[in-house]
Amino acid sequence: MKKRSTSPYIVVRDSKIHGHGVFAKKDIPKNTQIIEYVGERITKKEAERRADIQYEIGEKGTQGHVYLFEINKRYDIDGNVPWNTAKSINHSCDPNCEAEDDKGRIWILSKRDIKKGEELTYNYGYDFENYKEHPCRCGSPKCIRYIIKEKDRNKLKKLLEKKKK
Ligand SMILES: [Zn+2]
Repeated sequence: MKKRSTSPYIVVRDSKIHGHGVFAKKDIPKNTQIIEYVGERITKKEAERRADIQYEIGEKGTQGHVYLFEINKRYDIDGNVPWNTAKSINHSCDPNCEAEDDKGRIWILSKRDIKKGEELTYNYGYDFENYKEHPCRCGSPKCIRYIIKEKDRNKLKKLLEKKKK
């Protein structure tokens, strides 16, 4: 078994958002690579197969989680491994971090200065098509009740407003 990934910046504990969360152990300046999002390097084909399985689990009502990250045209990273501490980071509609690709490695990067004790979050960036399967309870004033890619936020907002009428 590989050793759990770690970082001097973080501590893992219970979260109000969901299950475990990752918190700032000390003040973190903007643009810091906080922790690497590690996992298994797999082909696209294998990633699709695993995503389908997750999808089926989701259909059965238990929450299906997707931990897949694209690193290039051929490979993805599946972060659903016990040694990936970054998988405990929760989603937020108003996140203080983002996932960044640095030469084929995924890093959790601070988007702004973060104070000691704050929970770290990033946007999971799920696709528009299946938004209904990813309800959000992040509690942020900017929450739109579903986990969705930043670029599709407005599209979904409009759709939800239309439905309300
Ligand atoms: Zn939210």
